[in-house]
Parts: sequence; C-alpha cells; structure tokens
Amino acid sequence: MLSESLIKEFKSIVGDENVFTTEADRQSYSYDSAVLEPVVPALVVRPTNSEQLGKVVALCNENNNPITVRGAGTNLSGGTIPDKRDGIVVLTNGLNKILEINEQDLYAVVQPGVVTAKFAAEVAKRGLFYPPDPGSQAVSTLGGNVAENAGGLRGLKYGVTKDYVMGMEFFDVNGQLVKTGSRTVKCVTGYNLAGLMAASEGTLGVFNEIILKLTPPPAASKAMMAVFDDVNKASEAVAGIIAAHVVPCTLEFMDQACMRYVEDFTKAGLPVDSAAILLIEVDGHPAQVADEAETVVKVLEKTGATKIVVAKDAAEKLKLWEARRNALPSLARARPTTVLEDATVPRSQIPAMVAAINNIAKKYDIQIGTFGHAGDGNLHPTILCDKRDTKEFHRVEAAVDEIFDVALSLKGTLSGEHGIGMAKSKWMEKETSRATIEYSLNMKKAIDPKNILNPGKIIAGR
Ligand SMILES: Cc1cc2nc3c(=O)[nH]c(=O)nc-3n(C[C@H](O)[C@H](O)[C@H](O)COP(=O)(O)OP(=O)(O)OC[C@H]3O[C@@H](n4cnc5c(N)ncnc54)[C@H](O)[C@@H]3O)c2cc1C
Repeated sequence: MLSESLIKEFKSIVGDENVFTTEADRQSYSYDSAVLEPVVPALVVRPTNSEQLGKVVALCNENNNPITVRGAGTNLSGGTIPDKRDGIVVLTNGLNKILEINEQDLYAVVQPGVVTAKFAAEVAKRGLFYPPDPGSQAVSTLGGNVAENAGGLRGLKYGVTKDYVMGMEFFDVNGQLVKTGSRTVKCVTGYNLAGLMAASEGTLGVFNEIILKLTPPPAASKAMMAVFDDVNKASEAVAGIIAAHVVPCTLEFMDQACMRYVEDFTKAGLPVDSAAILLIEVDGHPAQVADEAETVVKVLEKTGATKIVVAKDAAEKLKLWEARRNALPSLARARPTTVLEDATVPRSQIPAMVAAINNIAKKYDIQIGTFGHAGDGNLHPTILCDKRDTKEFHRVEAAVDEIFDVALSLKGTLSGEHGIGMAKSKWMEKETSRATIEYSLNMKKAIDPKNILNPGKIIAGR
C-alpha cells in the first residue's frame, strides 16, 4: 500500500489527472500479452514531459518502489508485469511526440511513446523509410520496440530495431539524464550505451528520447506466394534462396494448421490443403527486383513448389501480407489461451526445427500452428489451449520446455525477437553460461543497486 502522502507527491509531479489509483484502473495494467499471472500495480502514473518522467523515476527510487515502464503492453514475455513490492507502472503514452525528422541527415528524434506505424507513416510522407515493422506496429511503441529489440517481417534484409538506434537519452535510476550516441552516421564516443539499452527490457534505464536512423525507400518490390506439399521442401527452399545469394526483404513461413486458421478468419484464398507456404518479397532497384524475383522462382521450382503465385499489383500484394499479419489473431480465435513462442535456429536448421515442433505436438497431444520469419530462422510455434484445463496446460508447459531444448540443441536461441522478460528467464543460463548471468547481475547491481528498474525480468531471482 502506498501512503497518501506519496500519492500526493506523484500528483504534484504529473497532475491529479495522470495518477490512477482505483482498483479497476490498476487492474488494467496488471498483465500484458504473455500468458502469465497478473500482478496489480500499487499505482499507475502517466508523465507527459521529460521533466516529469525524470522526477517520477527519482521518486520511485527514493521510496523503493519498483518501476515498470509500459508502452503498449504488447510484449509477449511478461516484460510489463509490475513487481509485487508496491510496483508502479509508468505509462509512456503521454510522451508521444516526434521531435524531429531530418530529411537531409536521415534521422529522427522521437519520444518513447510514439506508435511505430504512426512514425513509419510520418517518415513515409517525407519520402523516407523506417524499416523495422513488428506485427504489432499499429499499436506498439518505439520505446517498447527498442527495449525489446523488436524484429519484424523485414528483418532479414533490413535488420531489427537496434540497427536503427543511433543514440538516445535515458534516465538512470536516480532520475539523472544520460546521453549516448549522436546524430552522426559514425560515433565512437564512449561505451555503446544505446546498444546496451536495446533489448534491456526496462531493467537498466528509462528512455526519454531516441535518435533513429532513416533510409531511402526501395524503388520497387515484388511479392509472391509459393505452395508446398511437404514442409521439408518449403524449408529447403528457404535455404536455397539464401544460398542463391538473394536476400529478400521478407521470407515468411506458414504451416498447414496455421493456414487453416488464417483462411477461416481472413478468406484470403490460402491453399489450405497444402502442407506449407512461403510468402516472399524482394525489393530494391527495378532491374534488381526483376532479376532477384526470377532467381527466387527458379529456386522455388527446383525445390518442389507445387504452385507459385506472383502478386500482380499492390492490392494482391496487400492481400498476401494481410494474411500473414493476421496469423496470430487468427490462431488466437481458436482456443481461450494462445502461447506464442519464439524459437529461433540457424536457417539451415529450419527443417529440423519444424519437424521437431510437429513431433512435440503429437507427443503432448496439443494443437500447434507454426508461422514465422523463416528467412531469419525465427519461428513462432503457437500453442492453442485452455489455461483453465490444468492437465492440458501442464502438457503445454512440458512441450514449451522441449521446444526450447531442441532450439538450443540446434545452436539456436531462446528469443529471436520477443525478449526474455519473466517468461524465459529460467532458461537464460542454459543458453548462455553461469558467468554470463553473473556478469549481467553485477552490471545490473552497479546500475540499479536497489533493483528498482523492472525487477524480475531477464536475469531475475538468481
Ligand atoms: C499481435 C502481435 C504481433 C507481434 N509481432 C511482433 C513482431 O513481429 N516482432 C517483434 O519483435 N515483436 C512482436 N510482438 C511483440 C511486441 O509487440 C514487441 O515486443 C514490441 O516491441 C512491444 O512494444 P510495446 O510498446 O507494446 O512495449 P511494452 O510491451 O509496453 O513494453 C515492452 C518492454 O519495453 C519496456 N519499455 C517500454 N518503454 C520503455 C521506455 N521508455 N524505457 C525503458 N523501457 C521501456 C517495458 O518495460 C517492457 O520491458 C508482437 C506482439 C503482438 C501482440
């Protein structure tokens, strides 16, 4: 329980209207997009400018109140579940200004609460391009993207959020403003703290402003769908495309189970009787696009695609991507609980990973639909279940354990893009080492001695 005098102090910083105390308001911020137990915060605070944000952080630290910063709460790893010790949720939706878009020097400066798609659209209006495009971009925030190092459909060619972070300002746990990076293309002044902040999940500092790199947009693009009667052939095609030295901007996979749910929801005309599809887009100079599309088609034919559909126009292309972007919502309609995983393997190991996922589904008698960024080796096996059915949920937990064991045995990683949060903390040592955990803990202790910044995430409880 927070004292009335402390609540008053928060109100004096951000105004009465930006401090939420009722049970109903606090309940709304007790969970995020992961399937984990909710924790109701002691208070929810909404700063609307930098000065307020810094003061809120400092006040939380002075009073030992753990801070969980929350963008849109779309993370899938429990990153915004507040701490049980009178945790305070700090909302960033009041810090939602695009401060600068520099068309000459190709960068932008933003506040952390700017919605990703809104930013990409503003940049596009000026003829520029911000490539990171998480499936949640219509609601997720740039602060949340940086803190999770979000990926997206274009990651294969254009990289992920961290590749666009040129610098930032963040508040340390005492509410002091730390500046790192610059507006220049090159900058090696001091430690790469912005690099450290990417994927730090709110555990090392609170972003105030972020400098993001922009690029010119590709002049042309071509999208296509390839249909396969065998999942292995689809996986081989992925490896074949990369081996042919074509780097598509997007190379996505969907298995039959996933396709059926998507088709049911979107009526996009997916080949639901086939085993798997690949959705591929190449972009760049028009001549390069024509050349690469031809190479891709040749690889697809050679690896046994039964049908290749090349989108004739922008409307057909949009239909293909709408189908892909609806994969998760389509699966989520099927059962009350959706456990979306993020197992990522070297690309050459995709056939082995897909086969293992299918075997695990049979072994534990559970439904799994798999889709993902096949070009990155980043698969999203999505388990459909009902958490209230405890027997089924135990089988799901065992299946998830096994999925990660397989991914690690194939020299993969626990998370390609969804972060560790609370959900995957227990596996960290398996992928890294005890020394890595200790190094990270020492760093965290030095930066945040009282463990106030989003405790319980990444290296929790060790
Ligand atoms: C339908 C759907 C599709 C998705 N598709 C993708 C995808 O394609 N690729 C992908 O990578 N992810 C995807 N995600 C996961 C999620 O959208 C991303 O992790 C996203 O970056 C989270 O942004 P957010 O604004 O919702 O952040 P939140 O969930 O609110 O927060 C995420 C983390 O960032 C921290 N944080 C937020 N703001 C700050 C700040 N100012 N300073 C310090 N820390 C901060 C939080 O404390 C938390 O640890 C998807 C999720 C959904 C629901």
